[in-house]
Amino acid sequence: MSTPIFLHLDGNSFYCSCERLFRPELRGKPVVVLSNNDGCIVALTKEAKAVGLKRGMPLFKVKDIVEANKVAVLSSNYELYNSISGRMQRTVAGMIPRMESYSIDEVFGDLTGVEDEDPARLTALAQSIRQRVYKWVGIPTCAGIAPTKTLAKLCDHFAKTYPVFNGVVNWLELTPERQRKAMAITPIKEIWGIGSRNRERLEAMGVKTVLDFARMDASLIRRRFTVVLERTHREILGVSCIPLEDHPQPRQQIVRTRSFDVTCSDMDAILAAVSVHMAEAVNVLRKQGCAAKTVGVMFHTDPFKANGRYHAVVEYRPLPHACADVITLTRAAHDLVRAFFKEGYGYKKAGVMLADLVPAEHSLVPTTLFDTDEIEVLKRRERIQASIEALNEKFGGKVVTLASAKCSAEWAMRREYLSPCPTTKWDDLLKAN
Ligand SMILES: [Mg+2]
Repeated sequence: MSTPIFLHLDGNSFYCSCERLFRPELRGKPVVVLSNNDGCIVALTKEAKAVGLKRGMPLFKVKDIVEANKVAVLSSNYELYNSISGRMQRTVAGMIPRMESYSIDEVFGDLTGVEDEDPARLTALAQSIRQRVYKWVGIPTCAGIAPTKTLAKLCDHFAKTYPVFNGVVNWLELTPERQRKAMAITPIKEIWGIGSRNRERLEAMGVKTVLDFARMDASLIRRRFTVVLERTHREILGVSCIPLEDHPQPRQQIVRTRSFDVTCSDMDAILAAVSVHMAEAVNVLRKQGCAAKTVGVMFHTDPFKANGRYHAVVEYRPLPHACADVITLTRAAHDLVRAFFKEGYGYKKAGVMLADLVPAEHSLVPTTLFDTDEIEVLKRRERIQASIEALNEKFGGKVVTLASAKCSAEWAMRREYLSPCPTTKWDDLLKAN
């Protein structure tokens, strides 16, 4: 197997950058964002760092610095940050084959096989991602490229720390000498996955820089620490141990996806695929005794197809009420497909996600005085769902489905509902006795 290549990209002073988007007068000025209840500084710009402020400082202790330097102080606005985060991550997702949303302002990407793995072209790709994110979303970012996630994140840190790199550090482009130098001037606290306890223990052993850590004996780390730290050590040495996790955020969710045999460029085919997947996902949901509060869809073109344009969609939408009926959930998923489908792409894979699952008995309870009509509709659909299940149970399989599952021959012909082909496939040949 070939060595993977990872991208790490994150927003510079993300919360502050979000605030600056809508308050341009704050550009170039010191800005801090406070934790809930305005207690401590949780984010700050480089201008705020320059006047002596640090993350974690309680506001009341630094009032003087803030006033003397006219630092703009803002409460955290997670609704804003979440929405900007979504825009930023969707923009990145549209430019790379596989992406993991790691935190509100960070993503990992898989660049294996991209741009012929030519280091200079990968750096150029990272630059164009940064430019597009800045142009489309308005958030400045930095990026790192490396054969492991831990090194990619470290490279991103180098890119942030040393402006000479112009926002992107590509490990594959650094000479071994420069790699060593970068490691030698970087404290171990910058390594992803080294927590404060391990850091203190390592420092007590004289391991202060990334280079010190890289030069440690692996068996010593295993004996004195944990396999987790040993894994981090291997990652720093360039051996990839932490794979990309590209199943979208919420852990507690049901995911149904499948690749198409051939690419589909027809929206009806995607809608049909989503219907089929949703019917399966709803079965799992109901077996778990759950209802879903969020619906998601994903579909993308073939990432490995040479010189094909790449388009990927991973979108979630919260529902007004948690529910577990196939009609409501399929409609919500179809709305997402219609909103994000683009003409002219050959899609290779599609799927659905059900997230924010709650026990079914907590659903269909009015939460405000005005919900009762919507709840009545949902209750009616729940009865339809029960009838569908009863018929399928009685006659076996999927005798009753939504019509949209059949609305595209393109999809229905070669997926799930494809019947055997005894006249054209040897394997499907009818057998007597
Ligand atoms: Mg950041």
